[in-house]
Amino acid sequence: MLKRTKIVATLGPSTDAEGILERLLKAGANVFRLNFSHGTSSDHRKRVERVREASRKTGIPVALMADLQGPKIRIARFLHQKITLAPGDLFTLDATMDPAAGTNACVGIDYKALPDDCKPTDQLLLDDGRIQLEVLSIDGSKIHTKVIIGGILSNNKGINRLGGGLSVDALTDKDRFDIKFAAEIDFDYVAVSFPRSAEDLIEARRLLDESQSRAEIIAKVERAETVVDHQTLDSIILAADGVMVARGDLGVEIGDAELIGVQKHLIRRARELNRFVITATQMMETMIHNPMPTRAEVFDVANAILDGTDAVMLSAETAAGDYPVEVVQAMTRICQGAEKQQLVAPVPTSPTKICERIDQAIARSAMYTANGLNGVRAIVCLTESGSTPLWMSRIRSGLPIYALTRNSRTLRRMALYRGVQPIFFDVTALDKDRINDAILAGLKADGRVTCGDIVLLTRGSLIGAHGQTNLMQILQVQ
Ligand code: PGA
Ligand code: MN
Repeated sequence: MLKRTKIVATLGPSTDAEGILERLLKAGANVFRLNFSHGTSSDHRKRVERVREASRKTGIPVALMADLQGPKIRIARFLHQKITLAPGDLFTLDATMDPAAGTNACVGIDYKALPDDCKPTDQLLLDDGRIQLEVLSIDGSKIHTKVIIGGILSNNKGINRLGGGLSVDALTDKDRFDIKFAAEIDFDYVAVSFPRSAEDLIEARRLLDESQSRAEIIAKVERAETVVDHQTLDSIILAADGVMVARGDLGVEIGDAELIGVQKHLIRRARELNRFVITATQMMETMIHNPMPTRAEVFDVANAILDGTDAVMLSAETAAGDYPVEVVQAMTRICQGAEKQQLVAPVPTSPTKICERIDQAIARSAMYTANGLNGVRAIVCLTESGSTPLWMSRIRSGLPIYALTRNSRTLRRMALYRGVQPIFFDVTALDKDRINDAILAGLKADGRVTCGDIVLLTRGSLIGAHGQTNLMQILQVQ
């Protein structure tokens, strides 16, 4: 059974064992994410090579995402690796102390300007919100706090402020280096962490351009100040090729009550602005150590799918979990279950927005026609750049969009688009008036369509050119 929603799986030690990548692909992973917060360039390089090998072996196209570390603010380390804090304890964050000498009373911080950014009554959230500190006073390099929610605190845990607004720059020197590296090993997507504004994304794109990279940019929406109003959020969505609802950090900064609405708005708005969207973090968290998801996790994943997300993401579940293959299998099952509901959901039937481009108008007409005509089983789209299938998949439909391309970069990139099934097809190798027959014969041979099915096909009259889609045909499989 086809799966429309895409799965982003993060690679790590748990996916390094022989044969795991192939099993993840067969289980339904569409994008592999390499987290640049962990590992060395040589680790990433090795993993990328193995992904390409697994994709070749299985014949399954997979996109590679480099997720930049970004300016995550962290505490330094403890003398004995970890401490336990109890509510009411006094605890100091100190920008000048020995970074390896943390104790029950104080710990270092890597971002030296943090004391200047904080003021009394601020709530600081450590380790994804598990520990909460209230700022009592600032004394030079020291932030004195009182513990509100205690627990175990170990080395290098992240710090967020409730309400956001910590002023640290988005692209660090490490990110700049990693962007060049990502360009060199030809990643398909680069995810920018903690962008504050469109400028940060424009800067990332400039760095990619300088390195002759064609990678697309994903804006991770994870700062409170980027979701305070719709205008700021729109400018971030528009400056990127796609967005990630980075619920881990965003949820900590805005609180979980706000997060619900933001997820729904962001998914809807990204689609409206012709951008793809990934929903991330803690989707199947308990499967890090359990072979089954909880009911709540099943419904969280399903909810994001019903909201219209292109992809759902796994982080530690695959990178460091005990059940990397099982979690992808479980997610695939949930996707398919939720998508069945989508089929009966109402599909818009009349266009309201004005298109700027001919190919965009064709993409949209194809979707409305396909959704409104009895007997249509599939949409087929011959594409060079992948734009037509992206536009198509912005419009809800239960029909598969088979996106045929001879361009391997486009093939990988389209692996992320909801409802789009990328297929390699070299149109230039064929005689012009044999193209349609060859496409239908190929789909039939693969069991994707059968005799009598109606297929909606889009292509350009000029074969092999970018941005030239100007034909839509309704064909019947013979
Ligand atoms: P991270 O980003 O996993 O790199 O922190 C995702 C998130 O914050 O949700
Ligand atoms: Mn994050």
